[in-house]
Amino acid sequence: MTLSLCNLTKQYGTFTALKGLSYEFTPGVYGLLGPNGAGKSTLMNIITDNLKPSSGSVMYNGQDTVSMGSEFRRLLGFMPQQQGLYPGFTLERFLWYMAALKGMSKAQAKADIERLIGLVNLNDARTKRLGGFSGGMKQRALIAQAMLGSPEIIILDEPTAGLDPKERIRIRNLIAEIAFEKIVIIATHVVPDIEFIAKEVLLLSHGEIIDSGKPYELCEKLSGKVFEIKADESKLSKITDKYKVGNISKDMQNIYVRVISDSEPTDFEHTLCKPDLEDLYLYYFD
Ligand code: ADP
Ligand code: MG
Repeated sequence: MTLSLCNLTKQYGTFTALKGLSYEFTPGVYGLLGPNGAGKSTLMNIITDNLKPSSGSVMYNGQDTVSMGSEFRRLLGFMPQQQGLYPGFTLERFLWYMAALKGMSKAQAKADIERLIGLVNLNDARTKRLGGFSGGMKQRALIAQAMLGSPEIIILDEPTAGLDPKERIRIRNLIAEIAFEKIVIIATHVVPDIEFIAKEVLLLSHGEIIDSGKPYELCEKLSGKVFEIKADESKLSKITDKYKVGNISKDMQNIYVRVISDSEPTDFEHTLCKPDLEDLYLYYFD
């Protein structure tokens, strides 16, 4: 199974939100990483045929997805960023409604709803109204609806938005669990959402894929450029003025500042660090 982006562009009036994107997805989890405004949601909406590109196409196994129409949409599960939840619906009613929109048979819907409510761990909430759900419960309900009908392609736009750290971890583990033999694309600006579950990461900046690859390959490019500076707290502004700065920690005597720098910060006491995806994000987007 392949899903290909072929030279996709999107104009909003005179503004170009996507600038000729091409990429090929095969089964696995992909992280589409970029700051707000990079074009992630625009791309997700085009892949799911909720928005028309200005030019270019999306192909599924070599076939144009727009011409496939409902045949393609049946392969697709989508969790959009802008959520239209129905606060008066119970979880069960919501899932039945979404299953009907997907054209699922009653028998298939019943089996799927049972399975998915269990998978997202909302058994106790099945007859409760969505309006009373916590943020994490809402996100899990939305992931469940995206998985109705066992779609081969799952598109999740900022799936952990608004969640507390514990809920984020739950959602991440859930995504890793459901990804087997599927193409899963997660748009996010939160690095840990995808750091350990993504097969490949696409870095999106101003409507362009500026880099892509396996997380460790991307991180290797920063090898020799990430340092931890140890200094007196009074030096902090000097450091932040001069370098791209990541995490800062401190103890009784010193501050420890993670910096990304093309050259060694010889003016401070420092040690070399192993680059991670957070460093890469700062390197490209800070
Ligand atoms: P992201 O999801 O990465 O935050 P979006 O795809 O939502 O990015 O937006 C990309 C850019 O396109 C932003 O600059 C945004 O303001 C602009 N944009 C998005 N939707 C519209 C629209 N309907 N009309 C005009 N500009 C838009
Ligand atoms: Mg978005």
